[in-house]
Amino acid sequence: MINVQHLTKDYGEIEALKGITFSVKQGSFFALLGPNGAGKTTTVRILSTLLSKTSGEVHIHGKRLTENDARIRRMIGIVFQQSTLDDMLSVKENLLLRGQFYGLRKATVLKRIDTLSEWMDFKDTLNQRVKTLSGGQRRKIDVARALINEPKILILDEPTTGLDPLTRRQLWTVMTRVRKETNMTVLLTTHYMEEVHDADHVVIIDRGEIIAEDSAHHLRLKHAKNMLYVTPKDVSTIETLSKALGGTSVEGRIHVPLNHPFDALKILSENRDTIESFEVVEGSMDDVFLNLTGRRFIP
Ligand code: ATP
Repeated sequence: MINVQHLTKDYGEIEALKGITFSVKQGSFFALLGPNGAGKTTTVRILSTLLSKTSGEVHIHGKRLTENDARIRRMIGIVFQQSTLDDMLSVKENLLLRGQFYGLRKATVLKRIDTLSEWMDFKDTLNQRVKTLSGGQRRKIDVARALINEPKILILDEPTTGLDPLTRRQLWTVMTRVRKETNMTVLLTTHYMEEVHDADHVVIIDRGEIIAEDSAHHLRLKHAKNMLYVTPKDVSTIETLSKALGGTSVEGRIHVPLNHPFDALKILSENRDTIESFEVVEGSMDDVFLNLTGRRFIP
């Protein structure tokens, strides 16, 4: 679906992308992560045909970037960090205009607006001028606009920054539904690690280079520690118990790193009599991100 080979981008002296290679399968949920300035926006802007590359090859649905940009643009929907809606027009007018841009018939676009406003719960704002919408309402319309032509690929560059948790969840519910129902590929950049918990494919870039790549699940297994937290019945035995469990004692609790969360079962059953309470916490994408990109920031 998307194939990127040795992609580079220089902004004068700055090498924003130093030859990245990855591919994205059709219908998958793909996440591009990295610290500020890593090159995420540069990558998505190149894939969206909005920015020219310095070198490398990109194919989208078999079409070569720079030779087939108009056809590629028709296949993708884009949501950028900044809203691109016309403030002076109503929600419906904005969406109609976008549909017409793709050469769709008015009746087709109206039907699509009807479906999207139902799914995304914005029927009541259809006739409202965009400039009067709240930040979250506006974001929904940005996403609806990107979905108006039923794109094969939806590209989202930090789409949920600044949204309240409910609106974020609503947007994700809709995007997941659309992706599954239409086999649409979703390419996301975000700083909210919980949003990529279920990503089929995650690429982490740092300073223009890929530093890790796998499914979110496998990255967590590899780079995030699962932890068992144990409170002993008798605090005076904490050091002995801690040694026996292979952990460290921290403020009255024993922290035991686990390769797999299920490893806790054996430890707990073998030490049942000495344990007051316990908690198993699975490694998160936050841990993955910090472990892979945070090292250079920690003295
Ligand atoms: P963020 O998470 O902060 O949005 P990002 O991963 O999207 O960051 P990019 O915006 O792609 O990063 O920037 C990558 C590098 O390229 C940075 O060093 C940035 O300063 C530089 N850069 C981006 N756009 C330009 C530009 N138009 N001119 C010069 N340098 C640029």
